[in-house]
This record gives sequence, structure tokens and C-alpha cells, in this order.
Amino acid sequence: MTLFLDVNELSSLVRTHGTEAFMAGLLEYIEDDFCQWEKFDKSARTAAHSDVGVIELMPVADDINYGFKYVNGHPSNPQLGMSTVMAFGALSNVDTGFPRLLSELTISTAMRTAVTSVMAAKALANPDSSIMGIIGCGAQSEFQAIAFHSIIGIKELRIFDIDAQAMDKVAEHLKAYPNLKVIKAASAKECVKGADIVTTVTADKACATILTPDMIEPGMHINGVGGDCPGKTELHIDVLRAGKIFIEHEPQTRVEGEIQQLPADYPVNPLWKVIAGTEKGRDSKAQITIFDAVGFALEDLSVLRYIYDLAIELQMGERINLVPQMENPKDLFGLMQDSTKETLKKAV
Ligand code: NAD
Repeated sequence: MTLFLDVNELSSLVRTHGTEAFMAGLLEYIEDDFCQWEKFDKSARTAAHSDVGVIELMPVADDINYGFKYVNGHPSNPQLGMSTVMAFGALSNVDTGFPRLLSELTISTAMRTAVTSVMAAKALANPDSSIMGIIGCGAQSEFQAIAFHSIIGIKELRIFDIDAQAMDKVAEHLKAYPNLKVIKAASAKECVKGADIVTTVTADKACATILTPDMIEPGMHINGVGGDCPGKTELHIDVLRAGKIFIEHEPQTRVEGEIQQLPADYPVNPLWKVIAGTEKGRDSKAQITIFDAVGFALEDLSVLRYIYDLAIELQMGERINLVPQMENPKDLFGLMQDSTKETLKKAV
């Protein structure tokens, strides 16, 4: 049967394992997959755009696992009482096509995005980084803050959002981390001044300029997360020109990332090569490094594999009859007609 994790069960899985331990474990899965980048069958996600948002499908596979995610991005959803980003997905066995996991992926996306950001920062930021500024205090924000605090060792966090209540929410949640000093900034400029790492994670269906060149200081690492769609960016083009840029899957990032603003042949660097140790990340202490994150399907495959393994270990989740399992695999009609066969199989 297929293992099913809904939002409640996934939340319970994270709480049982511990948020920081969950992130640390997930980092190992994502790093492992990035180190084996070339073995995966990769493609840019397919996107259905509308005036207010986008709905995307993100598949990826290797010889053993196939995974996909359904995800949307609708920046005006919070005004309707819904999240900007909502997702679910599945993990299947390549040898048979059997779906062994169906899961929520909204919380999992926030987790894998924060952990991917940390993986990039671990490889690219100056190793003594201790101050981070986060612009954007929505759904993703606390996940980013906790991952950077617990894995990178960020000690001071400045936060800024145009919505004061969103800033209050983040500050309140982060009170659970007494070793993390949280400062509410009055402006984006104040938020990033003197920061070693700057995370932009805003949502607006527009080419915004959250970071302008005057806000950038030597040695900064920029973790650009919110610009992830055609016509949806956060960094001024001269910020991009000032730094060394790292990307996930180039065909996807050229269309969706901050680099959509640059010529199609502008030099960018594959993050996976730095993670695998075959290429250098930062060239000097003063260099500005930029992770142009858009979110790639491989990160979702990593989190699907991780939550599946963890749920099996902790014996969590529900078993459901998502696809038929029959004594006679050719007797689909018989299964539909005979409820005793259905019941029998539920016990498998
Ligand atoms: P959200 O709607 O919950 O939060 C976005 C926040 O940005 C809101 O609080 C809003 O007030 C704030 N904001 C908007 N414009 C701003 C501005 N000019 N200055 C300061 N704050 C501003 O959205 P979310 O789920 O937190 O996602 C944030 C962004 O990250 C979205 O654009 C989403 O598409 C993107 N995202 C990227 C990845 C990735 O892998 N790269 C993954 C998940 C989400």
C-alpha cells in the first residue's frame, strides 16, 4: 500500500524528530543528491501562468526513484486566507512505477528550501558569518531563520517586511531560540546593513527591487529565494553584475531566476559542482556571492525520500489504497465489483 502523509502527520513527524534534527538530516539527503547531480534525469518544471499566479509540475528521476511535486505560487492568496505556496507530491519505484509515498509538500517545501539555502551558504558565504538579514516575513521565513541559526551558526537576525504583523509573527516564533538575537528593522536598508548573509524571500508578482547596489557590502552572500518566476524578481540588475552567481538547474533558472534580467549567455556557476567539490565557490573574502534560488525538483525528490525513510523508521503515516493491488492483476473489473476483495487488500 501507499504511505500517506498529510499536513498534520508531516507536522507530527517533524515535531517527533525535532525541527533542527529534521533539517540536519535533510541536509545530508540534499547534499548527497547534489553530489550525484549528473545521474538524474532532469527537466525544467512545466508552468501554467495566469494573471495572478502560477501552477507548476516538477518531475525528476534516477534509476531507482521517480518523484514529482505539484506547487503553486499566488502572491495575493494571503488576502483570500490561503497560502502563497501550496504543494503535494509523490515518490515512486522506477522498476514498477508503484507510488510508495503520497505526501503534503507545503511544509516540506519550506524545509527543503531553507536547507538548500543553507547548503549553498555553507559552500559560498564567508565561514565566520554570524549576522543575517531576512527581507520577507511570510510563510518561508522562520524555516530560513532556524536553518541558518542551527546549521550555519547565525547569531543575529535582522528581519524586515512591509507587513508589521508578519514581522511580529516571526519575532514571536523565534523567541524559542534564546541564542538567536532577533531585531525588527525599520527598512530593508537597515535590515541588511552590516549583514554577512542577506536572504530575500518576498512575494510579489512583479520585477521588484528589494536589494539595490547601494545596500550591498563587500563579502556579502545573497540568498535570493523569492524571485522564482518569469517577471518575478527581487534583485536590481547591478546587484547581479556585482557578484558571482550560483544556480540550480540552468535551463530552469535562465527563465525563472534573477538571471532572467541578464543576457542568455551571461556566465553563471552550477551550485552542484561546488557541493561536489569539483569547482570553487567564493574566490576571495571580499567577493559578493549570490545564490539565485528558484527551487529545483531534485530538492523535492530529496525531501520525499527523507520523509519516507523517516516515517518508516518512526512508524508514522497512514497506509492507503492509492492504486489497486490484486491477487489477479488483470482483474481490475472484479476488484471494482467485489468489496470483499478491496477489504482483503486493505489488510496488506
Ligand atoms: P508569503 O506570501 O507567505 O510571504 C511573503 C512576504 O513578503 C509577505 O509577508 C509580504 O508582506 C512580504 N513582502 C512583499 N513585498 C515586500 C517588500 N517589497 N519588502 C518587504 N517585504 C515584502 O510567501 P512565502 O511562502 O513566504 O514565499 C516567499 C517567496 O518565496 C515567494 O515569492 C515564493 O514564490 C518564493 N519561494 C521560493 C522557493 C524557492 O525554492 N526558491 C521556495 C518557496 C517559496
